[in-house]
Amino acid sequence: MPSSAVIAARGAERWRAGHPWIYRSDVLKVDADPGDLVEVTSERGRPLGRAFFSSTSQITLRMLGEGPRDTREFFRERLQAAITYRTQVVGDAHAYRLVNGEADRLPSLIVDRYGDVLVVQTLSQGTDAQLDLFIDLLQELVKPTGILVRNDPKVRGLEDLETVVEVRAGEVPDLIDIVEGDIRYQVDVRHGQKTGLFLDQRENHLMAGAYASGRGLDAFSYHGGFALQMARRCESVLALDGSEPAIAALAANADRNGLTNVEGRVANVFDELRELEIAKARFDTIVLDPPAFAKTKASLPKALGGYKEINLRALKLLRPGGMLITCTCSYHVSEPLFLEVLERAAADALAPVVLVEKRLQARDHPVLLGVPETSYLKCLVLRRL
Ligand code: SAH
Repeated sequence: MPSSAVIAARGAERWRAGHPWIYRSDVLKVDADPGDLVEVTSERGRPLGRAFFSSTSQITLRMLGEGPRDTREFFRERLQAAITYRTQVVGDAHAYRLVNGEADRLPSLIVDRYGDVLVVQTLSQGTDAQLDLFIDLLQELVKPTGILVRNDPKVRGLEDLETVVEVRAGEVPDLIDIVEGDIRYQVDVRHGQKTGLFLDQRENHLMAGAYASGRGLDAFSYHGGFALQMARRCESVLALDGSEPAIAALAANADRNGLTNVEGRVANVFDELRELEIAKARFDTIVLDPPAFAKTKASLPKALGGYKEINLRALKLLRPGGMLITCTCSYHVSEPLFLEVLERAAADALAPVVLVEKRLQARDHPVLLGVPETSYLKCLVLRRL
């Protein structure tokens, strides 16, 4: 007997509307072991396709829907579709997301590509149980020189899954050389944040490079994704990050590209923006790319205060005619809410601004309509009048 689950009308309606997460309260009956692929039916016995079952998460089922009977064929089709889509949108990028979970109808599976190496994350019991199959299929479909399993995100804890970082196929060098635009980076896929780089900002990095001029400021710079693109057009760029290893990697990346006009500074951005204001510093291009301030809904009011503060200070440091490229990666901060914050920051800074562009995460991280959780990054380009 295959594993099975029956879901309530509310869950079935949610899935029909496009959302693959079925919460525990909407699951009427389950006959499955942790991580099983289950056949899901509605209360009336209508088949709804397959799902990953999790025994611990509030998200009990992650719907996969219909597909070939054979499990290998089922996932081969899904992976192939994800890979084909990337060939349409990534151009000559070396590092990008090959599989983006829900948006590729492979909920809780992440695969990032860094040159010839793949980095895989299985973030639920369901994808974790299929890891061997995914590794096998990725070798068949992509023929990478190495596959690293980077299973250290905290969310795995909700699934009762352990932290595992290990090479599962071929070889994975300590540092991988990749090119983004014309800038070369070395990436540590074992220890870097996320899977090594912030790939979701790839297209925004290039966009920022195109707007950059004069004196640039990259706040929350990490390894210089924005700063180094800006440095090719700016007279000089100041990059700020609280992490010493991040600034060290940024400096090494600047050297690697022969960019001598980038200064990396280890600093708390909140304090440093204030210091720069006291010192009457002025910039022509500013990027703000903070970590998610609102990780939960409860932290939203405080988070909005944080976003307002950095944007207000940045606008004060921005020369008239200058560009502010400002991001939030908090899912809880919607675009209208973010715009409201920016409106108030501009008013308080006495800095009238126009909205030049509204952007999202890069196209290899597509948003699944009906699943607001997949739309988290907003990147707005403002010009100070
Ligand atoms: N802009 C980067 C990604 C930034 S991620 C890119 O495109 O590649 C957020 C960064 O903010 C992290 O590197 C983290 O170390 C840094 N950070 C978090 N809080 C900070 C703070 N208060 N001051 C300075 N840096 C901070």
